[in-house]
Amino acid sequence: MADAFDLVVIGAGPGGYECAIKAAQLGLSVACVEKRDRLGGTCLNIGCIPSKALLHASELFADVTHAFPAMGIEVGAPKINLKQLLTFKDEAVDGNTKGVEFLFKKNKIEWVKGEGVIAAPGKVKVGERVLEAKNIVIATGSDVARLPGIEIDEKQIISSTGALTLSKVPERLLVIGGGVIGLELGSVWGRLGAKVTVVEFLDAILPGTDGEVVKNFTRILKKQGFEFKLGSKVTKVEKAKSGLKVSVEPAAGGETQVLETDVVLVAVGRVAYTQGLGLEAVGVKTDKRGRVEVDGSFKTNVDGIYAIGDVIAGPMLAHKAMEEGVALAERLAGHWGDVNYDVIPGVVYTSPEVASVGKTEEQLKAEGVEYNSGKFPFTANGRAKANKTTEGFVKILADKTTDRILGVHIIGVNAGELIQEAVVAMEFAGSSEDIARMCFAHPTLSEAVKEAALAVTGLPIHM
Ligand SMILES: Cc1cc2nc3c(=O)[nH]c(=O)nc-3n(C[C@H](O)[C@H](O)[C@H](O)COP(=O)(O)OP(=O)(O)OC[C@H]3O[C@@H](n4cnc5c(N)ncnc54)[C@H](O)[C@@H]3O)c2cc1C
Repeated sequence: MADAFDLVVIGAGPGGYECAIKAAQLGLSVACVEKRDRLGGTCLNIGCIPSKALLHASELFADVTHAFPAMGIEVGAPKINLKQLLTFKDEAVDGNTKGVEFLFKKNKIEWVKGEGVIAAPGKVKVGERVLEAKNIVIATGSDVARLPGIEIDEKQIISSTGALTLSKVPERLLVIGGGVIGLELGSVWGRLGAKVTVVEFLDAILPGTDGEVVKNFTRILKKQGFEFKLGSKVTKVEKAKSGLKVSVEPAAGGETQVLETDVVLVAVGRVAYTQGLGLEAVGVKTDKRGRVEVDGSFKTNVDGIYAIGDVIAGPMLAHKAMEEGVALAERLAGHWGDVNYDVIPGVVYTSPEVASVGKTEEQLKAEGVEYNSGKFPFTANGRAKANKTTEGFVKILADKTTDRILGVHIIGVNAGELIQEAVVAMEFAGSSEDIARMCFAHPTLSEAVKEAALAVTGLPIHM
């Protein structure tokens, strides 16, 4: 086996594996070091893919009770076979991780199994083997953020990883953190029967999301049975005879309330993962939050060492990591590659979904940008009415002078797919008028995007 490569990528998550594949496609000899026993990183093994499998199945389960009767479909009370549900999820992981393995073989990328340590610029040690590399890419991703004094045992006090494998539906689930992961996994177990309480430090869930969307979403989740303790912090979790006792205080300080629950899910974010990589020894700089510092071309302060994905600054999203991986591979192969950070969509895969791209109204106001806003509710969309899925709306924000689209925010069924129309328009520097003048297939939910565009400077047809 050759020990010299044009490129050695450390970490086979979405950032690392896409970087490796693109570099190989462009003619570089590539090795990818991965210590997990499967490729695909957090995303395919314990993140995006398994969580979406559980969200999909649990949504259908909830539909049997909440949506089927109105359509005249009578199947009686549904029962959950949790073992089979977890098998369904495991099969999704298996299929996807094996897919990456196939792509590695197809592109002649060597998967070097084990933990990679950067021994020196141009040298990566994996066990006894030393790989020589013209360039090294750090794509080691992120790990669960922990709270001091609250020990995760992945049984009663769990992280997102434990929330993908619970062997029993808890009667009560307390989620610490009202971000994307907490709300998605809270939704899964809530639909399967758990009473879900979310404790969030800030005064609103989904920090950074458009305020109007958050208000709407919070109301919808409450209707689904979520209970929220906003502006509150968990200070202690104690094991009791049966279950857990959770001490909760107002974020600003005040009287402690003790809540009882069966399982606590710690979902307070993720932190860059660089453990054991040997960064200090080679002198690669990290920032205050432990993220690898890079310049605009993903280069660290050490020549020949680059970094991408969750381990560097920016949104911790699989598609952001993928875009960076591809752009870097293109640059290393002598081509041009770039990531447009202004147009990175974000999706919350709850029911309904929440999706956004670009600036929120709050951001535009803070930046003093004058804008027009067009909004269209799904209650006025023909397809949504036919399907009885009328919750939510599409909102388009466009520059007051030029009409260039600055932000799009959607809450509704399939928002995660609909947002891509906005991404395309924004990538081409499109205006709301561009969207308003396009022909959309009828009847589709996407017509709500056209109508919201019509509402930016004029009037929608169906309102
Ligand atoms: C529950 C959950 C749900 C999520 N859902 C979504 C979603 O729906 N959409 C979305 O966009 N994002 C989602 N994310 C985030 C997404 O998973 C990450 O943004 C993405 O995986 C980051 O990719 P990456 O390549 O940077 O790193 P990772 O996917 O974390 O991969 C890094 C890999 O490096 C390996 N590694 C680390 N150190 C070494 C070493 N020294 N040697 C060898 N190997 C090493 C690790 O084992 C790991 O496999 C979710 C995350 C979680 C936890």
